[in-house]
Amino acid sequence: MTISSTTDAGAQTGTGIQITGVSKSFALRGGKSLLALQDTDLHTEKGSFLALLGPSGCGKSTILRILAALDHPTHGTALVDGESPDQLRSKSELGIAFQDHALLPWRSVRKNIELPFEVAGKPVDRDYVDELIALVGLKDFANAKPAQLSGGMRQRASIARALVLKPSVLLLDEPFGALDDMTRQNLNLELLRIWTEKPATTLLVTHGISEAIFLADRVAVMSPRPGRVKEIIEIDLPRPRTPDMMRTPEFHAYVDRASELLFGSDGRAEAEA
Ligand code: ADP
Ligand code: MG
Repeated sequence: MTISSTTDAGAQTGTGIQITGVSKSFALRGGKSLLALQDTDLHTEKGSFLALLGPSGCGKSTILRILAALDHPTHGTALVDGESPDQLRSKSELGIAFQDHALLPWRSVRKNIELPFEVAGKPVDRDYVDELIALVGLKDFANAKPAQLSGGMRQRASIARALVLKPSVLLLDEPFGALDDMTRQNLNLELLRIWTEKPATTLLVTHGISEAIFLADRVAVMSPRPGRVKEIIEIDLPRPRTPDMMRTPEFHAYVDRASELLFGSDGRAEAEA
């Protein structure tokens, strides 16, 4: 097998995620500033699944926040499927699930998952809401408030909410971080099933190397802050992906490659600049 990689996969087709020359600095107290991203490029194709791996603090969430129009680049441009993040958000084509579940505490699970319909001014598709609630295993908790749920359950509710409008762009920032391995694996399989049904342009930030390789078409590995994309690994495993693929030599070779990029051949992570 060959592991192909490039730092600029998905040449500029005008669709997919197009982050070009993006830098982001944050103003700190005392007139200082912190450079979170430096001249970062990241290009994917429409409907493709990209996973983002990188050390803590390298700017992964900053990239997602820029794509979600929650933040803006200091320099450079960010486009998704040819549109600015602001345009995309106003068209409700964006599904977001961040590590912090951000459920509304006064609303039930069901009402939280229905929220995107209300925000978009669309009629609630109750059948699909029911289907998603069942899918994320919250059938018995549909009327519970977030405070009555475990952390993992809240996370699952927020994933259902991200998917409910069948968005064309899906931004997931460590959505499974707080879950146990079994739940995580089940949700990965469900996410894959939903994504296969309607491939959204997806960017998933994760700490899980195996998870990234199992789910994605490409895995981008970032360097420590100021973050830039070090390398993109093309994951040439057939679809549909099945859990037994995780035990193949091809899969292990991808895990080794990603680990080497993240931790170096001596197993030590590169320090921040
Ligand atoms: P990651 O998600 O890869 O862990 P982040 O994108 O959250 O990293 O952060 C990248 C860097 O930018 C970190 O050093 C972080 O402390 C800093 N940072 C992020 N947001 C802000 C902010 N609003 N103000 C100041 N610094 C920030
Ligand atoms: Mg983060």
